Amino acid sequence: MHIKSVEFAGAIGQIGQAPPESVAGLVQIAFSGRSHVGKSTLVNQLLGRTRTPIARVSARPGKTQEINFYRVRSEAGEFALVDLPGYGFAQAPAPLRERWRGLTDDYLRGSEALAGVVQLIDLRHGPTSDDRKAIEYLAEVGRPVLFALTKSDKLKPRARREAIATITETLGVDEAQVIACSSLSGDGMEALRETLGGLVSSAE
Ligand code: GDP
Repeated sequence: MHIKSVEFAGAIGQIGQAPPESVAGLVQIAFSGRSHVGKSTLVNQLLGRTRTPIARVSARPGKTQEINFYRVRSEAGEFALVDLPGYGFAQAPAPLRERWRGLTDDYLRGSEALAGVVQLIDLRHGPTSDDRKAIEYLAEVGRPVLFALTKSDKLKPRARREAIATITETLGVDEAQVIACSSLSGDGMEALRETLGGLVSSAE
């Protein structure tokens, strides 16, 4: 999938707020992951925005509590990339956690246009307890989930293969649902783009 253009469409910061007008009617693909998993870096890389990043790379874990929408024109069609707030329940104070849950819950349950969710997991660590909660929750929402295992450059090839196999087994999902990737080396990025392109064109 070749990306033609990307623009920031707006954000949701309050429960009950509607997605930005400019993404109305578009297929949506959401990105979910704990703070610091590499989500902003991956979104920028995926969209080809490495020199002029469009997604904000977080300085402080758990700080961003907004859902950001990007309108993307690609050769597979037009879609909205939805950047969900990073979670990290361990560090975040209770009100922030509640806010995350409320916002995300409201969005995920209400979004008819959501074609699928990309759940990010750090390849070195596998799913944390927070990740497991998010995955369980996504299963309840009932949308297709693709797992992107991030920062694959941090492992040598053999350890990488073993980690991918272990995580795939732990998650109990099909190999085709799991893509190891690195925003640094570019590993897996094309595969991720192609899979998302397939999701966009089949949902249109
Ligand atoms: P977010 O909080 O999930 O949006 O995570 P960020 O994109 O801000 O990344 C968190 C940290 O991980 C930053 O220091 C990034 O430079 C680093 N990082 C992100 N992606 C990669 C990757 O693919 N490989 C490596 N080695 N580091 C990464």
